[in-house]
Amino acid sequence: MDAIILGMPGPWADSNNEAADIYTSKIGGLPDWPFPIGSGKQNLLECSACRSNLCLFAQIYAPISSKSLSIEERVICVFGCLVPDCESPIFSSSKVLPCFYIYTQEEKQSKKAVSGSSKNTLLSVQECDYVSEDQSNGETYEEENYEYDRALNADRTYLKFKKRVDAYPEQCFRYSYGGKPLLASVEIGDPGICKHCGGLRHYEMQLMPPLIFFLQEAANDDQKISLQKIDWMTLLVYTCSMSCADSSYQFKSDGEDWIVAEETVIVQCE
Ligand SMILES: [Zn+2]
Ligand SMILES: [Zn+2]
Repeated sequence: MDAIILGMPGPWADSNNEAADIYTSKIGGLPDWPFPIGSGKQNLLECSACRSNLCLFAQIYAPISSKSLSIEERVICVFGCLVPDCESPIFSSSKVLPCFYIYTQEEKQSKKAVSGSSKNTLLSVQECDYVSEDQSNGETYEEENYEYDRALNADRTYLKFKKRVDAYPEQCFRYSYGGKPLLASVEIGDPGICKHCGGLRHYEMQLMPPLIFFLQEAANDDQKISLQKIDWMTLLVYTCSMSCADSSYQFKSDGEDWIVAEETVIVQCE
């Protein structure tokens, strides 16, 4: 069985704009491009629906070392549109989400996985109660009952998803190159084939709901509104199994060639 690497929350960045490098995995903040982003390719960073600038949700250092392929310098950036009503091109609030760093650990599938036991974790595990996010009134208890009933009735796929999240309730992402996704619902969209080489797309990683709740902890008021509207359970990232790339998105920096490839995300909602 393939190892599954979990992305767990480490310390907050000193500022949301704090610079790091491609070897750094983090949630929020600004992408650490290894080359100067020139004009002309900016459309990669625009929402295809509303043309607003996209926000970085996650940057994950993702080298490949398989029998057939070895790429040491590789990074996956997942962007999202935070425009509350993604038909309006006007959105004035900050485009940079709160930033925290990630450390990784392997998921142990023992029956007694101890959660939140790492000393590296600076964020509080209590903040990760993503099931009942509404603490503004006295309905929390009812909400929990509702969630519980619903969970009982939910299909096995969802229960398995919840169990694996509960075992490590701070997990912000899961990573398993070419492995199997943890599905929140049975219906999975078609990741299609790579539009450059026609090769198969395979599962590489997925973002998990706790990351939204950590972001909410440090979000400003506008961001909170946008983040509250996020209704996905998980975002599945599929990449070209050949790790090919379109050379028209090629960048040079310090004698190194970098290629930017647009991959595919499948959204699973509640
Ligand atoms: Zn948009
Ligand atoms: Zn390809």
